[in-house]
Amino acid sequence: MSNPASEFLREAATKSADLTHRQLIRQGIDKYNEAFDRGRSRYFNWEAARQKCRAIKSEAVNHLDRYLLQFEEKIKARGGHVFWAETSEEARAYITDLARRHNVRTIVKSKSMVAEEIHLAPALEKQGIKVYETDLGEFIVQLRNEPPYHIVTPAMHLSRAEISALFKEKLDGGDTQDPSQLVAIARRWLRRTFFAAEMGISGANFLVADSGMIAITTNEGNADLGMSLPRIHVAIAGIEKVIPRLGDLAVLWPVLATSGTGQPITCYNTLIGGPRAPHEPDGPEEFHVVLLDNGRSELLADAEQRDVLNCIRCGACLNACPVFRTVGGHTYGTTYPGPIGSVLTPHLRGLDQFQHLSYASSLCGACTDACPVKIDLHHHLLHNRRNAVNEAHRPWSERIAFRLFRSTAMSAARFSFLAAIGRAALRAIYSLGLERSPLDPLRPWTKNRAAPPIPTKSFRSLWRKGIGPN
Ligand code: SF4
Repeated sequence: MSNPASEFLREAATKSADLTHRQLIRQGIDKYNEAFDRGRSRYFNWEAARQKCRAIKSEAVNHLDRYLLQFEEKIKARGGHVFWAETSEEARAYITDLARRHNVRTIVKSKSMVAEEIHLAPALEKQGIKVYETDLGEFIVQLRNEPPYHIVTPAMHLSRAEISALFKEKLDGGDTQDPSQLVAIARRWLRRTFFAAEMGISGANFLVADSGMIAITTNEGNADLGMSLPRIHVAIAGIEKVIPRLGDLAVLWPVLATSGTGQPITCYNTLIGGPRAPHEPDGPEEFHVVLLDNGRSELLADAEQRDVLNCIRCGACLNACPVFRTVGGHTYGTTYPGPIGSVLTPHLRGLDQFQHLSYASSLCGACTDACPVKIDLHHHLLHNRRNAVNEAHRPWSERIAFRLFRSTAMSAARFSFLAAIGRAALRAIYSLGLERSPLDPLRPWTKNRAAPPIPTKSFRSLWRKGIGPN
């Protein structure tokens, strides 16, 4: 049976050779880059805004206990319910029980990566409850039975023609490829489900401690409909989503929008902090917030990597990453793809199974440069590599090879001798045309590339003869 690492390598080889897929992703990210550059140029000082966001998130993460309790107290005071879920199972059980107790048959869900993380929709569907994704991109991938491709743009891997064919097949949508008509088809279809649903589920971009509100930001207004029409609303969020003050949104909201899509501000920004009050015309009768830990407390205890919890899920690091752009989002086989996913997933799902993601990086640092909360992503990938070695998660053959290498490299004479033998052997293998054969020790490299020319003389001997920098 294949493991996540070999699955990743197989998918990466397929996707990187798929030029149509790469072209589609390049087009999408090129457009994003133009919008992102325009967005950043609107700031008087983008670096200062990043610094401010980092400071806010670090303050929240360093005092998570205090701010979460403050948030809970305010929600409860308004008649809302707060459930602390230590694991995915607990979160799923709470929400499915709630739905069962209220005889819920239909749920409208707005985009939530945490709901993906705990596999919420399949658990509800198993109970015979229909769950409809209402974010357009999520709706499209749900129709295809696929997970989201990207944190912010879940259907970015699909062309307009593919979406048109999908709507024609599943929604009886006709032959149009016009974006506004495609949106109208989805809207007509989804509008009915909003009115039928007894429960709405959303994520939360931020949990505001001082006012006890959840802050949700969308471009389609689907979360607002999902919060105001059904009888029950459930918001699910990781514990790291808390921020200290309402005023912090003045910088976090625009920075999230700019980093996510290049917009100055997202179209719909909503705060909700409890069920409908007697004088209010709409809103849910019951309001629940599920606060998910699922490994985050362990990350909080790790002083070296704690700042990974600062992430605001803007997706900018995915767009900046040359590996993501080449292999695509589904290749990672995880809820969170790209650099942040490669850093976070080993913490959430185990370093032994997901350490390979730490190597899905050229360590160029583009992700770190793009991150609006200044998470040092590429160094965290190195930390994960080091931890995998220290915790003995690497294969014994690799560990022996590195021990041998260390003992060789510690002696100049041994190193020169073995390097000369290695050069001679490689020259012999390539001159006999055995490149890419099982005898070729560089086969993982030469499988897809020409063999490098093997020099006859070592760098040391050239140096001794004075050929090289003085
Ligand atoms: S790590 Fe930074 S760039 Fe990546 S999603 Fe999180 S906030 Fe955005």
